[in-house]
Amino acid sequence: MTYPTDLPGRPRPGAAGGPATARATCVLAPNPSAMTLEGTNTWILAEPDSDLAVVVDPGPLDESHLREVIATAEAAGKRVALTLLTHGHADHSGGAARFAELTGTHVRALDPALRLGGEGLGVGDVITTGGLELHVISTPGHTADSLCFHLPADGAVLSGDTVLGRGTTIVAHPDGRLGDYLDSLRRLRALTVEEDVEVVLPGHGPVLDDARGAVEFYLAHRAKRLAQVETAVENGHRTAGEVVAAVYADVDRALWPAAELSVRAQLDYLEEHGLI
Ligand SMILES: [Zn+2]
Repeated sequence: MTYPTDLPGRPRPGAAGGPATARATCVLAPNPSAMTLEGTNTWILAEPDSDLAVVVDPGPLDESHLREVIATAEAAGKRVALTLLTHGHADHSGGAARFAELTGTHVRALDPALRLGGEGLGVGDVITTGGLELHVISTPGHTADSLCFHLPADGAVLSGDTVLGRGTTIVAHPDGRLGDYLDSLRRLRALTVEEDVEVVLPGHGPVLDDARGAVEFYLAHRAKRLAQVETAVENGHRTAGEVVAAVYADVDRALWPAAELSVRAQLDYLEEHGLI
């Protein structure tokens, strides 16, 4: 829940919208907050020589933003042919139904409740719209329905809220579970090692050029917080609220309600593993 500035990698233009890799362009939604950083990153993906584009996370229900996404694709000579969701949080999916209406596309997501007009998304699925190759990666933990998308041609992964461009994310208890989240981070680390993924195209915040460093940072951060929560419990802090006050004292109080979700997920994890 802290937002350090020493996260590996450097900001790229994608942080404020614009091209980030050969195949990925960001359109920043106008919904900045402590939780969403500068706003939601809506991603337009396309092969350079194709006239078809895939949009990942249309963002919140904001008509002007949705129309800007379409206009940005059209300005590059692309027609939006498919809409994908990294997960169901409203800042990513709230505009999906309207966006599907405006573009005539299907919406594909892991959660059946979020799908519109077509198939879902399954782990191991490969999207091939307009020659663009996109692999679906299972990454539960932030939420149960969280996915990442691997874009091999650009050595990039679209990380949704599983890894952010700055700071760390929440494990949204009870839907999000810490054990799942740690497994997902390890899966992303394997992608950086085995598939040469170097670039993170996050759901919020700037693009990261050191994917492996970012994932290692997240794993280290989670281990540190978990140890702090364990110590807080050993020191007599019993409720999630007490643990938040003890462990997240250095964090803006506006983020404490979100931190409490992560603490509940951590307490569950410690109990399940017989550590408290
Ligand atoms: Zn989210």
